[in-house]
Amino acid sequence: MCGIIGYIGNKSATPLILDGLRKQSYRGYDSSGIIVFEKEKPELVRAVGKLEVLEEKVQKSDFKGTVGLGHSRWATHGEVTEANAHPHADCNNNIFVVHNGIIENFMSLKRQLEEKGHVFHSETDTEVLPHLIEHFFKGDLPKAVRQALLLVKGSYGMAVVARDDPGKIVAARVSSPLVISVNDSGGFVASDPSAIVSHSNKMVFLDDGEVAVLESGTFTVTDLHNIKKEKEITELEWSAEEAQKGGHETFMLKEILEQPESIRNVIRGRLLPKEGAVKLGGLEEVEEKLRGMKRIHIIACGTAFFSAMTGKYMIEEYAGLSCEVDIASEFRYRKPIVSPDTAFLFISQSGETADTLAALREVKRKGGLTLGIVNTVGSSVAREITAGIYNHAGPEIGVASTKAFTSQLVALAMLTVFLARQRSMSLVLGKRIVEEIARLPDLVKQVLGQKEVIAQLAQKYASFSNMLYIGRKYNYPIALEGALKLKEISYVHAEGYGAGEMKHGSIALIDENFPTLAICPSDSVYEKMISNIQEIKARGGSIIAIASVGDKEIANLADDVIYIPKTIEMLTPILSVLPLQLFAYEIGVKRGYDVDKPRNLAKSVTVE
Ligand code: GLU
Repeated sequence: MCGIIGYIGNKSATPLILDGLRKQSYRGYDSSGIIVFEKEKPELVRAVGKLEVLEEKVQKSDFKGTVGLGHSRWATHGEVTEANAHPHADCNNNIFVVHNGIIENFMSLKRQLEEKGHVFHSETDTEVLPHLIEHFFKGDLPKAVRQALLLVKGSYGMAVVARDDPGKIVAARVSSPLVISVNDSGGFVASDPSAIVSHSNKMVFLDDGEVAVLESGTFTVTDLHNIKKEKEITELEWSAEEAQKGGHETFMLKEILEQPESIRNVIRGRLLPKEGAVKLGGLEEVEEKLRGMKRIHIIACGTAFFSAMTGKYMIEEYAGLSCEVDIASEFRYRKPIVSPDTAFLFISQSGETADTLAALREVKRKGGLTLGIVNTVGSSVAREITAGIYNHAGPEIGVASTKAFTSQLVALAMLTVFLARQRSMSLVLGKRIVEEIARLPDLVKQVLGQKEVIAQLAQKYASFSNMLYIGRKYNYPIALEGALKLKEISYVHAEGYGAGEMKHGSIALIDENFPTLAICPSDSVYEKMISNIQEIKARGGSIIAIASVGDKEIANLADDVIYIPKTIEMLTPILSVLPLQLFAYEIGVKRGYDVDKPRNLAKSVTVE
């Protein structure tokens, strides 16, 4: 998901490419690589780890070429190794590709290409691209790229160069950002305008299905069938720092607003609508073992623990498996029962969370089956589990988790369908849920469209020192997550509570200075939630409700309402958490805090 940069012109390409990679490094990466043509001779260097390692290697080589590509990889397919780092080449060392995204049908393409004699050198999905382009290449690179891409399914932002068709860079995109700009000294292509805005602020943003051909000082854009496209030039007013954040003030806001995309990425290629099922490639090897399981035990920390709690409701209701959840720091110090009919599922964004990792190792020591939902490919958790699901949410820079959380929930919903269809879930119900999962990116977009309304609401509540968040069933963990977000970002004391539990203690806190955020979509516990809201109103507390579109009753009861679209109950948390993220964000900003780096917190908790 990380950085692409390409340059063609009359200057030395290497420093421009390294600079472009550095400016995109905020996106997170695990390895990197560069190719520069020295008078038609390709010079390729790749390195694992920090960009400095690549820079050091490149400096030793002192390339002088004026055409080249660079890439910072955030692995999705294949471990973090030099062989898997980009650029990838064809059999003849003629065609070189850098790619961000996922080629969904790479397995079948790879098989077909191998049958034709192509030899592969990496475990990546990307490597099918240079070989497929090679298959079509007859001296015209743009044509071969277009022909190849007609066979490719998935997401890509990619840039290609060929020794035997020199003097051009071909770039193409579907669902992965790519921007080009041309000035007097040459042309650039990049994943992010921040990498190239210092050379020119005139940008051409490629759209899905477009192919750009950059030559020194000029460019053309066509579709995959070579029909020419007129492109608008956008003049960016962003500073380099703003550009890194996609024009947003903070990474947190960028990541909140990216959620339609990150959810599209976690479901991409995994839904089988006709079969009412899901395809989880990472679980294939344990599919038969999972069939025999009677229990799922989920272990996680922080926000991931709240996704685990939500997963419990999903798995118990639909897969009929009993499901236990544990905070990793507690689990590792008690005496867990690791029985052969229980699968242990570890959820971690970074895959490096110390407590989760220790719990995982404890389960392995006792012989349990270990599964994972992890965002960072090649991380410790990802390497040590038996099988798992990657979130593909892209790097999350903001310390408070947002898009990783919703992608965990979607992964859990898919896991639920997977387990349920192995058991008693009907085709009809499977289809219904899969259809609803497919709608999520659009529904999420609708909720995020209310950003301004939520900002106004935040203004109204920004000065309170305490807040209560309540929910039931699927939205009980969301109440906990909403309260955690507010604590993390705004340093406002907030408590998350099961709405039914209020009267057993914490309702004593309620007065006109203690507002409550009540999550009450039109679901199976709606009536109960209404009663709990009444109890709070009766004690003078004000209520912000998160309710389903069309709910008229709630407007009479609550002081303020934020509406979310209707969906099946199991998926409501994915929508209801969004206003809570925005609400916490806006309050944090209004109170003047650095929401990307909240005090006392670290992104990846690698200590106990
Ligand atoms: N899927 C490709 C890989 O794993 C590209 C990853 C990226 O976007 O950096 O190599």
